[in-house]
Amino acid sequence: MTALKVRGLEAQHGLLKAVRGVDLDLQDGERLALVGANGAGKTTLLRTLAGIHRASAGTIEFDGVDVTSTPAHRRASMGIALVPEGRRLFGSLSVIENLRVASAANRKGAWNVDTVLDAFPQLKPKIKAAAGSLSGGQQQAVAIGRALMTNPRLLLLDEVSLGLSPAAVQGVYESLATVVKQRTTLILVEQDLQRTFDFAERIVCMLEGGVVATGRTDQMTRDEVMGYYFGHRV
Ligand code: ATP
Repeated sequence: MTALKVRGLEAQHGLLKAVRGVDLDLQDGERLALVGANGAGKTTLLRTLAGIHRASAGTIEFDGVDVTSTPAHRRASMGIALVPEGRRLFGSLSVIENLRVASAANRKGAWNVDTVLDAFPQLKPKIKAAAGSLSGGQQQAVAIGRALMTNPRLLLLDEVSLGLSPAAVQGVYESLATVVKQRTTLILVEQDLQRTFDFAERIVCMLEGGVVATGRTDQMTRDEVMGYYFGHRV
């Protein structure tokens, strides 16, 4: 079944059109990666899907429902969860409090404090620590865990490895491997192309706000994707 159907989506920052005429289809359980240079519009697209940024044109259908004008908190309770770039935790709250805040959305599903801590075992000894006192990798784990606590049907992950050490990135992706066993539909923005190929089933290349190519990761090469990245159009 189609989880997400986006048609002609546009989003602006003032006069600047950051997302232009984007069409996107995502099947239930599919893992899609958005790839493109800095400023290609990936973050704006994710924020527009989550309802944090307003669409200036086009439509977003989620599970067959038009959510284009639905406010962010309603989209969250319908099952769209964003792990934002920069994590945005409640730094003075403990790990467990950060997780519990999110469970207020209260959708039923496999994720609760126990299953999140099983997926992110590095958080177990830290549940009472202030989130702001944790390492970058641990904070990212809390940010992903917080999104999972809402039992999302669509998980949007924006640059989860940004600014982390290689070991921390490895830890985050090992936990994400546990997450995808639940067949959660997700869209990932990741600068590391190898990780993108390893993790996603399909890639969408963006350039200057538009989609310039899409393909299955087992049918595309890294060189092809790099070509789109640096500006070839189809
Ligand atoms: P990055 O990897 O740098 O996050 P991105 O592909 O996610 O890049 P966006 O952050 O969505 O791209 O940016 C798309 C365009 O919108 C860029 O030209 C950027 O400069 C512009 N932009 C992004 N945020 C704002 C903002 N808050 N105000 C004005 N312009 C913005």
